[in-house]
Amino acid sequence: RKAQQEERRGLPARTRDGHAVEIGANVNRPDQVPVALSQGAEGVGLMRTEFLFLERGDAPSEEEQYETYRAMLAALDGRPLIVRTLDIGGDKQVPHLQLPHEENPFLGVRGARLLLRHPELLEPQLRALYRAARDAAAGAGEGSLLIMFPMITSLREIEALRAACDRIRAELAAPAVPLGIMVEVPAAAIQADILARHVDFFSIGTNDLTQYALAIDRQHPELAAEADSLHPSVLRLIRMTVEGAAKHGRWVGVCGGIAGDPFGAALLAGLGVRELSMTPRDIPAVKDRLRDSDIAGLRALALKAVDCETADEVRALDGGAS
Ligand code: PEP
Ligand code: MG
Repeated sequence: RKAQQEERRGLPARTRDGHAVEIGANVNRPDQVPVALSQGAEGVGLMRTEFLFLERGDAPSEEEQYETYRAMLAALDGRPLIVRTLDIGGDKQVPHLQLPHEENPFLGVRGARLLLRHPELLEPQLRALYRAARDAAAGAGEGSLLIMFPMITSLREIEALRAACDRIRAELAAPAVPLGIMVEVPAAAIQADILARHVDFFSIGTNDLTQYALAIDRQHPELAAEADSLHPSVLRLIRMTVEGAAKHGRWVGVCGGIAGDPFGAALLAGLGVRELSMTPRDIPAVKDRLRDSDIAGLRALALKAVDCETADEVRALDGGAS
């Protein structure tokens, strides 16, 4: 039975009518990779690198980061690894960095905004990543690294981050690495057709996108439960992102919590999302759900969902596999 279960987990998330969705794991450390693979992950869709800073009392050096990224790539043995550059600020405070206190940190200097103001954080990380990409490409198990930037709001940020990547890549004689952004601010979703021209892929962070779309602090003791990623407004932002990306032939993933919910995953696939990344333990149920569906049915489901009036109405569409 165990062997049967393992075998099923290893099958791709392909719908009955042959539409494949890529399944990644949200994993932060190399020692978590084998667990993710045993659950059926096909790669890492989100490595939250702020954990490298949060798990200790100081900032890891470029060398230490390099070792970690190499170990991740080695553990993945050629499968894709999407590394998100530091997403500090908001709910992810790192006391030892002694950053200034903010009255409203979710609307403050966080994610890409912080990186662009702190080259002493951005540059060692990019150097470590490009060195890892270069040395993995030279080694046996061909590495497959992608870099993604958090909390992007406007094109200027993408241009500045790309320029830093280009410079560091040239200095290190490193190979090109696909560069993507997280879509987690409504402004980025609404302008997806513009931003898509300048990046290789999008990954939608539905946790933050929901918080910013609904104006509900994702950690609010009273309100957080209402920060529902199935709210039709959020689904419409996801649809806009997919449509904007398609204009330039870019693919879209989702790495927020909704990707790990079987019904959410089905809806996202119907909206045209190509990759879903989630907590490893959520993978088997999501794969089963997609494998029991037809993409035509999921598209019809998604069309209905974006026209719903409330999140409850969206949820009521869940009649099991479609
Ligand atoms: C998100 O915002 O959905 C996301 C995946 O990033 P994090 O939860 O780390 O903010
Ligand atoms: Mg986020």
